[in-house]
Amino acid sequence: MILTSISILNDNYVWILYDSNSFCIIIDPGVAENVIKKIEKKRWKPIAILLTHNHTDHVGGVKEIIKKYPDIIVFGPEETKKNNVNKIVKKGDKIKLLENEINVFFTPGHTLGHVSYYLKPYFFCGDTLFSGGCGRVFENRFVDMYQSINLIKFLPEKTILCCSHEYTLSNLIFSMSILPFDKKIKNYYKKIKKIISKNKKSLPVYLKTERKINIFLRTDEEIIKKSMGLEKYKSDLEVFILLRKRKDNFLIGAKRD
Ligand SMILES: [Zn+2]
Repeated sequence: MILTSISILNDNYVWILYDSNSFCIIIDPGVAENVIKKIEKKRWKPIAILLTHNHTDHVGGVKEIIKKYPDIIVFGPEETKKNNVNKIVKKGDKIKLLENEINVFFTPGHTLGHVSYYLKPYFFCGDTLFSGGCGRVFENRFVDMYQSINLIKFLPEKTILCCSHEYTLSNLIFSMSILPFDKKIKNYYKKIKKIISKNKKSLPVYLKTERKINIFLRTDEEIIKKSMGLEKYKSDLEVFILLRKRKDNFLIGAKRD
């Protein structure tokens, strides 16, 4: 399957997988218009929609897409069922599509019922993990989010992460405020700044890269505790929670991201 993405809204990506017969799978269509336009232009034949969680910027386009392509099958977790979902998915499910097997991972934290989809090597993680950061934790489920992120962390390093938002640059700015002397983060920031200034995308990204530059995947490192002024005995989970809370209140310019 070949991967591509469509930019929608301010900073969302709708991911699309298509094969040599022009069949395609759409992941998290937050709006329909640009998606339908691209499908028509490429003459793709959409067969399925995969939803990660029930936020409008991920599910908002489903209704219009299925109006246009009524045979499409919509997969999604329980929380998305009111968006014309035909097949509710849960942890451990295997979806067979276009001779591919897609594994459903339960990755709660951003929402209570968030799922991710793994079609090797692509991992569609919705708003669980971002490049250089992670999703906001609604409903106060920090333990869930920590576990979800760690589940992703230990996938094969060649896994290609398909995150739903272009937040990389602001995530790296936050990371540099925590670890100002980290060369890997600094260099990656420079690289991404160039990419973004050319109106290009920083995603998808290899998990191997994320393990180096994403501080939310590095909460086991002593240097992070030290930089945050935390006592040695703090657990990785406690570090994660404090880090995420700091990010919630971090301002870039006048904007909270
Ligand atoms: Zn969301």
